[in-house]
Amino acid sequence: MQLNINNTFTTELPSDPITENTRRQVFKATHSYVTPKVPTQPKLIHASKDMAEAIGLDENEIHSKAFLDLFSGSNVYPKTNPYAMAYAGHQFGNWAGQLGDGRAINLFEVSHNNKRWAIQLKGSGETPYSRQGDGYAVLRSSIREYLCSEAMYYLGVPTTRALSLMLSGDTVLRDMLYNGNADYEKGAIVSRLAPTFIRFGNFELFAARKDTENLKKLVDYTITYFYPELGAPSKETYINFFEAVANRTLDMIIHWQRVGFVHGVMNTDNMSILGLTIDYGPYGWLEDFNFGWTPNTTDRQNKRYRYGNQPNIGLWNLLQLANALYVLVDEAEPFETILNQYQTDFEIKSLDMMRSKLGLQIKDDTDAKLTLDLEACLLLTETDMTLFFRLLSNYKHGFAANGIKTVYDAFYTPEALKDEILDRWKVWFLSYDKRLKKEQLKDSERQELMRTVNPKYVLRNYMAQLAIDDANKGDYKLVDDLFQLLKNPYSEQPENEKWFAKRPDWARDKVGCSMLSCSS
Ligand code: AMP
Ligand code: MG
Repeated sequence: MQLNINNTFTTELPSDPITENTRRQVFKATHSYVTPKVPTQPKLIHASKDMAEAIGLDENEIHSKAFLDLFSGSNVYPKTNPYAMAYAGHQFGNWAGQLGDGRAINLFEVSHNNKRWAIQLKGSGETPYSRQGDGYAVLRSSIREYLCSEAMYYLGVPTTRALSLMLSGDTVLRDMLYNGNADYEKGAIVSRLAPTFIRFGNFELFAARKDTENLKKLVDYTITYFYPELGAPSKETYINFFEAVANRTLDMIIHWQRVGFVHGVMNTDNMSILGLTIDYGPYGWLEDFNFGWTPNTTDRQNKRYRYGNQPNIGLWNLLQLANALYVLVDEAEPFETILNQYQTDFEIKSLDMMRSKLGLQIKDDTDAKLTLDLEACLLLTETDMTLFFRLLSNYKHGFAANGIKTVYDAFYTPEALKDEILDRWKVWFLSYDKRLKKEQLKDSERQELMRTVNPKYVLRNYMAQLAIDDANKGDYKLVDDLFQLLKNPYSEQPENEKWFAKRPDWARDKVGCSMLSCSS
């Protein structure tokens, strides 16, 4: 197996001089060298042909012993030195100090077709940053990360990618709900890829320690390799860098809101400096439209990371990044301006996104009210977000009286559609219909466009759980079925119509479907 290794992170940035794999505080270094744990009996469950090709591998190589050895952590690629990255972070609003890659180990960077990919193994054992963890990952969360990162990519949401999903052959002890019921689960390893895995927290680590020299090195490195369009590092470039990160972060979150994705753990150590969705943990997909929903039971009390709060948390996290970068600029005002702009841009982009979901091409003053009224209607009774918008893409102009029929299948309790609730929907459809009169597109053209932003298939929480239940019994067919299904989330797939349906009742309050914890 031949890869075009092209390391920059380890060659340009300072490493931890200690090479023992012991948990410790690491200073003045961006990474520590550490070798992945050799798994007992690795087995390939699934691999992405597209990602194999993206790093210059042939599809056939996926099934080779060399692939199994490399991406299970059994063998280290010649002349490379795997490493864990040092970072810190704010978790659930509180400063958490040093964190770092506790269960991820970077193998190397590869260049192919003018693209750079850093490749990590998640679940390959302890590192100096493992703190009280064991460095392993369980099959259920590995399936969730593997399927969701690829699904997000095909939905058009910026994300890290996944190359392979393997069983380690080892068992891992986990207390899934943190309620004293620990059990052994199958261990697994995902290999995942991104141009870089640098997070807000990498900058926060140096800033908190007043290590300006290394902070500057890391910022300069990030700009040189990942924001080259900003030019040579300078005070002005640092401000432009922060602005670019703010824009990308906002764009990513607007995409989350569009498809109904709830990250679940938007700590600053889980915020990519490239604005990619990263660290798929207790994430979830909105089934009934609800701003207050979070899948993460660890966050049950405050619901800090609930659906409707994601844009605010993006801003809060950017403020922490601004605090970290501040010493390089020594002026607060440019950061404040950018943070204020984020809020203005959020309003504009969020409305544009809702316009696209409604198939509105023209900007009209009444659009903000139309979307607010719709959101209020969606909250009247349990309404499935994905189904609602996809079905609305079938709406025919001039048939407001039939509007509710078009989207009928999206309601979890259709019997509630009466009296005042029904009246409010009727009023909304009338105003939507009136608004469509101002548009120039034909029904069919508008519907076509709406179907490119309102997905038909998303990785509903129960779908991932069904794949996990089968995989725990050694049956991986559903992992592949879902992987293939979610490669074309906007297409009609008549053979897969069963996945275009409301969450089944059994999944409503089932662990893994609507309740997830950080334990993975
Ligand atoms: P997360 O909530 O997954 O973003 O993880 C937060 C921090 O805990 C990161 O530093 C992780 O590397 C670390 N961590 C999470 N799970 C484990 C584990 N099983 N073993 C070691 N470190 C872990
Ligand atoms: Mg994390």
